[in-house]
Amino acid sequence: MIFVLKFDVVIIGGGILGTSLSYWISALTDHTVCVIEKENHVAAHASSRNTGVVHSPFYLDPQKKKKIAKAALLSHDLWQDYAQGHHISWKDTGTIELALDESQHRTLEKYLKWGHQNGLVDNDLELLNSEQIKQREPNVKCHSGLYCKKDASTDYGLLTEQLFQESQQNGTRFLFSSTMKKIQNHAVILSNGQSLEYDHLINCAGGHSLSIAKKFGLAKQYSSLHFRGEYWQIDEPNASLVGTNIYTVAKFPKFPFLDPHWIKRSDGRTEIGPNAVPVSDPEAYSGLNMSKLLSKISEILSGSSKKLLLNSEFLSLVSKEWKSSISKNNMINRVKEFIPKIKPSYFTTRGTAGIRTPIITKEGEFLAETIEMQSDHSLHIINYNSPGATGAPAYSAFLVQQLFDSGVMHQSKNAKPDSWNFAKIIDSL
Ligand SMILES: Cc1cc2nc3c(=O)[nH]c(=O)nc-3n(C[C@H](O)[C@H](O)[C@H](O)COP(=O)(O)OP(=O)(O)OC[C@H]3O[C@@H](n4cnc5c(N)ncnc54)[C@H](O)[C@@H]3O)c2cc1C
Repeated sequence: MIFVLKFDVVIIGGGILGTSLSYWISALTDHTVCVIEKENHVAAHASSRNTGVVHSPFYLDPQKKKKIAKAALLSHDLWQDYAQGHHISWKDTGTIELALDESQHRTLEKYLKWGHQNGLVDNDLELLNSEQIKQREPNVKCHSGLYCKKDASTDYGLLTEQLFQESQQNGTRFLFSSTMKKIQNHAVILSNGQSLEYDHLINCAGGHSLSIAKKFGLAKQYSSLHFRGEYWQIDEPNASLVGTNIYTVAKFPKFPFLDPHWIKRSDGRTEIGPNAVPVSDPEAYSGLNMSKLLSKISEILSGSSKKLLLNSEFLSLVSKEWKSSISKNNMINRVKEFIPKIKPSYFTTRGTAGIRTPIITKEGEFLAETIEMQSDHSLHIINYNSPGATGAPAYSAFLVQQLFDSGVMHQSKNAKPDSWNFAKIIDSL
């Protein structure tokens, strides 16, 4: 016999966004909350399969990416306090964004301005010439670099796990190994037939959020593509060649990918990556699933992504990324351009790959900003990409405030103590 469960709020997706939202709602309201997650634990996908960098928003266009830039700026200190309070690894690595020629240097000058417009202070960012970079990192070769002292590394999987524990203590019900299949009269129907009635549903399903929004008749003008980011790990003593995160100005700035970088992880590992290899679905971490691939190809040919197939710059990016997936040497050579001492033999182990799902507009362009779509009794977050892990605490607080403002949810007079200060975050937003 199948029971019908009933919750005030049902959240689809136990990634960093869905878990942060459940945390805020369970701390600030008396509403009953349930998170549906198809895997058997939180943060099984992008939320732990990422670079682990706590990004400062110097590289984000303050006009086009205003909200996510603000969320990243505010969330840095929230995550730092939270990680330290719960003994989760945190490393103040700093990042140097390199220019390899004069035209890229002009991009760094623009980033310096954007950084200040996005709220970073003078002390956070420093534009350095090649000599000054050499003094800091003798094994890095470049034209110039923008040094961001504030960037850090952490483990977003562990942070999400801790938030899950606290959300659960506040009363959130997490249903693991439960996949949302369809919607029927204000009820989510799971793949095992279980029905969950809700007053309000929030879709935070990461790479699947677009297809879920479409079940509600929303976002019909959009399509999505999936790009696998692969990493290679470098062993000691060569991992110590460079001590800072090293990024470069992206060679294809129209697309939302940064070329593979040098990453100092919070647990002491050093890796290069990620590249951006087109794949069939949000969980295509390895191998080739022919039926999913054929279905994705037919979706591309009938949707807005088709226009990208006529874009020579996009095709050039795709060919470059595929080469770096097939050949380790090719991937290493992309980083050797700015760290000449590295050799393919120093990289013996692959890192954990993760998949990004950018949204494509009907004009065949990558959508710049995360968007929120509402329908009767539901809210859908789509295109929540990097630096989404960084911005999760403040961005989710912002979403909850929106739900309060629109009368969908009500803040309780007996709110439980929260690890962060909700009112202060909302004031800063
Ligand atoms: C390679 C890579 C590198 C990145 N690097 C960084 C970085 O350094 N810094 C940074 O800030 N950000 C980074 N990001 C971005 C960041 O990881 C994401 O923005 C963030 O994790 C998105 O979180 P999410 O909760 O929206 O999605 P997810 O983590 O994907 O969570 C969505 C969840 O929904 C579940 N789900 C989906 N469909 C269903 C369904 N039908 N029923 C039930 N459950 C469902 C999934 O199982 C999943 O657990 C990176 C991402 C990638 C892939």
